[in-house]
Amino acid sequence: MKKIRCTLSVILSLLMLCTVFAPVALAAECPHSYSVTNVAPTCVEDGYALYVCSLCGDNYKNYDGAIKALGHSYSDWYVLDEATCLNEGHSQRDCSRCGASQIKTVAVIDHVDENTDGVCDVCNSEVKVEEVFSPFDWLIAFFNFLRQWFMDIFA
Ligand SMILES: [Zn+2]
Ligand SMILES: [Zn+2]
Ligand SMILES: [Zn+2]
Repeated sequence: MKKIRCTLSVILSLLMLCTVFAPVALAAECPHSYSVTNVAPTCVEDGYALYVCSLCGDNYKNYDGAIKALGHSYSDWYVLDEATCLNEGHSQRDCSRCGASQIKTVAVIDHVDENTDGVCDVCNSEVKVEEVFSPFDWLIAFFNFLRQWFMDIFA
């Protein structure tokens, strides 16, 4: 009985030693048989050659002579929500290759006053009408004032 137990423990120790050292031994001894797969570049990643050992699974990427990342292939900007005089708008564009998308903010636009009533057609706020007062206008105003003055005196 004692002898059997002794043999068992020896076997167990041997097994443990094997499990600890076996992977190291295997990795060191693998003669490596690599197969090469060419991985195409994507929008953001360069292409590369992928080497995988069919025996131990060891692998690495080789970027030598690889094709550079393609960059996104964006559509034109399309409007998500239109900018108004009250709110800024947003536009989006999508990459046709990988689906990545970008959103940009469109700044608030000027008030709209199509009927020129001095009130914005969109938000009803008062629109500043730039009064251009030329020297000629000043002259007319001055003569009008003079005429009024004479009329007041000699009428
Ligand atoms: Zn290998
Ligand atoms: Zn893309
Ligand atoms: Zn407005």
